Amino acid sequence: MNPNSRRGFIKLAAGSAAGAALWSAAGIPSLAWAKADALAATSLADGIVVISGAGANVLAVRGSEGLLLVDGGLAARSSELLSLALKQTGTRKIHTLFNSHWHPEQTGSNERLGKEGVRIIAHENTRLWLTRKIVTDWLPKGYGPLPAKSLPNKSFYTRESLEFGGETLDYGHLGQAHTDGDLFVYLHNANVLAAGGVVSAQGWPVMDWQTGGWIGGLVGAYDRLLKVANEQTRIVPANGPVLLRKDLQTHRDMYFTIFDRLVKLLVKGQGPEEVVAAKPAQEFEAEWGPSDTFVNAAFKSLWGHYAPDA
Ligand SMILES: [Zn+2]
Repeated sequence: MNPNSRRGFIKLAAGSAAGAALWSAAGIPSLAWAKADALAATSLADGIVVISGAGANVLAVRGSEGLLLVDGGLAARSSELLSLALKQTGTRKIHTLFNSHWHPEQTGSNERLGKEGVRIIAHENTRLWLTRKIVTDWLPKGYGPLPAKSLPNKSFYTRESLEFGGETLDYGHLGQAHTDGDLFVYLHNANVLAAGGVVSAQGWPVMDWQTGGWIGGLVGAYDRLLKVANEQTRIVPANGPVLLRKDLQTHRDMYFTIFDRLVKLLVKGQGPEEVVAAKPAQEFEAEWGPSDTFVNAAFKSLWGHYAPDA
């Protein structure tokens, strides 16, 4: 691996304490890096490519109908991203776009592709979020509403499948996890799983409790993904390098450990500042970077689910 290349750097960054700290120091890592980041394509199989660098990983699947994408990157990178996806797969048009959840890094191609009449698939909760302006702690300027033509035009509630490019794609809701509208997409023949926003391989994720995410649900979403994946499955996270099932298990166990500690602190009647000071994720910081922002949000995410005196 050439550490001077962009991809080499990503792998080094994801695998080292210094790298993890660097990502976290950038604030919102994906947004901060994406603006200056070169796009990179990684082939997973004939006609199946992951493109990184546009704010989130984008999975592109070639079919005779055109191209299917799972997630669309940031709006500012959409044009560049779509050109590269078409070129890398030898296709001429986008046929289908999945939004794995409502965040700007996933829905930045909706406007362009919606106008072209592309099928846009999302969980119904994601569609509903995109119909309004959303302001959260981590996105104080807000996002949306998207124009009517940019909204998902096919939504679902639990689990569905479709045939595309000789593939059977299963897609399903991951419950209230990273947001309340997260989905996965599983490609049976290629044995590739796009995990959406639930899985980050590049530092702590946004725990978006203000749009229905919570840490107990994040653990539950990992349990669902662990049932879909087998030992050979290649798992595409929202950010960072492609993972294996054993990596998901490691993440799941870490989130469960933190969840368990946060519940105990809540039951003791502690508030967010005391909980952050208690450092309940300290042993994971060497790999994942400073955890205070994540812990603060993960703790607040319990409020809708647990009452201290219940
Ligand atoms: Zn997200």
